[in-house]
Amino acid sequence: MILAVSKLKNLPPPADGYRGRFAPSPTGPLHAGSLVAALGSWLDARKNGGKWLLRIEDLDTPRCVPGAAQEIQSQLLACGLSWDEEVVYQSQRQAAYQQALERLNRLSCLYACTCSRQMIANTLASRGIETPRNQEMVYPGTCRPATLINNSTETPGDSKKAWRIALPENCNIHFEDLALGTQSQNLNIEVGDFVLRRNDGLFTYQLAVVVDDFEQGITRVVRGKDLLNNTARQIYLQDKLGYLRPEYLHLPLVLDEHGEKLSKQTLATQINTEDERHALLELRKAAIHLGLQDLPDGQNVTIAEWLLAATHAWPTFS
Ligand code: GLU
Ligand code: ZN
Repeated sequence: MILAVSKLKNLPPPADGYRGRFAPSPTGPLHAGSLVAALGSWLDARKNGGKWLLRIEDLDTPRCVPGAAQEIQSQLLACGLSWDEEVVYQSQRQAAYQQALERLNRLSCLYACTCSRQMIANTLASRGIETPRNQEMVYPGTCRPATLINNSTETPGDSKKAWRIALPENCNIHFEDLALGTQSQNLNIEVGDFVLRRNDGLFTYQLAVVVDDFEQGITRVVRGKDLLNNTARQIYLQDKLGYLRPEYLHLPLVLDEHGEKLSKQTLATQINTEDERHALLELRKAAIHLGLQDLPDGQNVTIAEWLLAATHAWPTFS
């Protein structure tokens, strides 16, 4: 069935404080995979009469590509995916991350680490543990002090050391994903004490995302399934910092012909938004990927009309 767009009623007014976000890293323009995350999170926010925020995750400065943040915004606008508040740039939020780090330090749950990747690999190898390629090494705890103290003599980040969070024993995290159901991860076994600030002074994604989602009042995180594996770490940090836990909804990934996730690293081609017709084609591909059916074929509708139909077709997750 093709929806008669003109007959659709307007969506409900913003209610109940839903706040969602799209948080791309500006390592290149949007590709088919990142458009799926953008569209899915936008539709979910609109469906719930909520706000949709844009945060540019330009924290890992060496990996950021000049001009990409601007390009991403132009592509989103060309696709009719507009955001509701001023864009937040993580590169401008260092003070907030440092504050959170110092707060964790006062809770005596941080320690400084001087291990290089090679040292960690060697320690693991000496214990007979091989880490498969492209999987993160589980930190073996080499630098963890026997007793954790409030490192009041040293401000985390002042030195050329990495700062790790000391996990308690049996750190099992459970959460509900709105699409995937109950998830759990044992952080000790699968991750180990993880880094919050790197030895080059950069704050890590795990810390920044938690601080920003909290300070931006995000109530539901909708993002690609490639990030599912980070969620338990983020929930652990939220609990430590006394933040409310947002809801989580992880979306299906777009894979290339080799079954690998599309990413800027694998040189996924950027979406074509040169005119409305091309932008609609990209949106329709993303919508099919998200499982939306019976949407207008894009011949006789504007992007705004198509997005309204897609919002109506988007399921209610709860
Ligand atoms: N910046 C991350 C990325 O582009 C996404 C972060 C998130 O949605 O939590 O992969
Ligand atoms: Zn170490």
